[in-house]
Amino acid sequence: MEITLVQGDITEQRADAVVNAANSSLLGGGGVDGAIHRRGGPEILQECRGLRASRYGRGLPTGRAVATTAGRLPAKWVIHTVGPVHSASEDRSDLLASCYRESLRVAESLGARSVAFPAISTGIFGWPMDDAARIALDAVRQSGTAVEDVRFVLFDHDAYAVFEARL
Ligand code: ADP
Repeated sequence: MEITLVQGDITEQRADAVVNAANSSLLGGGGVDGAIHRRGGPEILQECRGLRASRYGRGLPTGRAVATTAGRLPAKWVIHTVGPVHSASEDRSDLLASCYRESLRVAESLGARSVAFPAISTGIFGWPMDDAARIALDAVRQSGTAVEDVRFVLFDHDAYAVFEARL
């Protein structure tokens, strides 16, 4: 497995699967979630609604992952995962690590060979970038995944530099 870093927009990645920093409603939101639904088109939301109705009536739990079509994105699947909101009083690192592990597990079960991740929980959910980078890289390295190409897509130069230093 090879880990690569790119600075850019997750919706432009050509990868078998791109990971969405979703919220538990699966019905869209801001940040990565908003961008994926905007660029990917209504098919993704339609499948998310179906998942809400059939399997996740109470929402997708934090740390779990589920796949849908990628709609018009240049990928085969979107894997939606729900990151934890950062907390100063409670250690939620394992839930953040679980997002990466579970997304890779779902990717592997689909036969995806390349997966692109955003920096989950570092936007609206408030996780400090350096800590999130450490958790993300450790989780991927320790996952034992059969996915060959794991790409982190960092939106701005600062985030890229933090991941680069950790890698
Ligand atoms: P969360 O709710 O998990 O914190 P966000 O979507 O708010 O998720 O942000 C996660 C990270 O993704 C942030 O670092 C944000 O700057 C970055 N980001 C926002 N839009 C994009 C995009 N289109 N492509 C890649 N990264 C993005």
